[in-house]
Amino acid sequence: MKVDFHVHTNRSIDAVHSPRLMVKRAKKTGLDGIVITDHNRLFPKREAQHLTKEFGILVIPGIEGGNIAVQKHWIALGVERPITMCRIDSILSFIRNEGGLSIAPHPQARLGYADYTSLGFDAVESLNGCEPDSNQRINNSGHIPEVGGSDAHALPMLGFTWTRINADATVESILEAVRKGWCRPGGSIIPFFDRLRFYPQYITHRILREPMAAYASAWKVMREIRLVKTGESSSTAVEHNRFQGDQHSRRSIPVLPLDWR
Ligand SMILES: [Zn+2]
Ligand SMILES: [Zn+2]
Repeated sequence: MKVDFHVHTNRSIDAVHSPRLMVKRAKKTGLDGIVITDHNRLFPKREAQHLTKEFGILVIPGIEGGNIAVQKHWIALGVERPITMCRIDSILSFIRNEGGLSIAPHPQARLGYADYTSLGFDAVESLNGCEPDSNQRINNSGHIPEVGGSDAHALPMLGFTWTRINADATVESILEAVRKGWCRPGGSIIPFFDRLRFYPQYITHRILREPMAAYASAWKVMREIRLVKTGESSSTAVEHNRFQGDQHSRRSIPVLPLDWR
C-alpha cells in the first residue's frame, strides 16, 4: 500500500483545502491511504470512516501536536482521547498506552525532535515532502521504522511523497506494520513549483475569501506565540472538531499542553 503519513486540511490554520477535497485528490493521485494530521486537532474517527467509505481510500485520523511556529512537533495516530500532558516523554508514553503510534516529523528541521530515538518515538519521518535540506541530515542511527509524509498543506502538494507499507487497508494493520518496520519511505520531496502553488491558493482561500476569520486566527496565533515566548503559558488551545456526525465534536477538548523542555 501507498500511504501518506502527514497531510493537513483547512482545519489547520496554515492549510487550504477541506478534508473531502484532500481525500478525493489523494485517491486520484494513486495513494491507498492518508493520515490527516492537523495542527493540535485530532481528526474525528467517524468522519475518517465516512470519507474512507465515500472515496475508497483509507483515511486514518491523526494529529500533529506542538505550536505551529515556536515548538517542536510530534505526530500521533490511533489515539482517541485528548492528549493533555506537558512533556514529550509523557506524551509518548500516553500514546503508547492508548495503543497508538508516535512519529517524529521533520526531525532535523527547526521544529523537529532530532533526539527522536532516545525519546522513544515509534517511527521517524525520514522523508518529508517539504524539507529537502533537513531530510538529508537524518541518519536514523537507532534504526527505528521510517515513514514518508508529504506535509501537504494544499491539493497540488499531494501524491509525490508516501510510505510503501506491507499491510491491509485497516488502521490496526497499518499501525502494526509500522511497529514491525514493514514500511519504507517512497516517492520524493514535492517539486519546488508544486510547493510554490500553495501560496496563491492560501491567499485566495484563507485570506481574501475569509478576511475576518484570517484576522482572528492570526491574532490568536500571535498571542499564543507571545505567551509561550514570555513563559506566561505552556499551552495552546485545541479547537473543536467540526464534524456534526461525531458525538465528540460538540465536546470541548482540553487544552493541549506543549513540550517546553
Ligand atoms: Zn510540523
Ligand atoms: Zn505538518
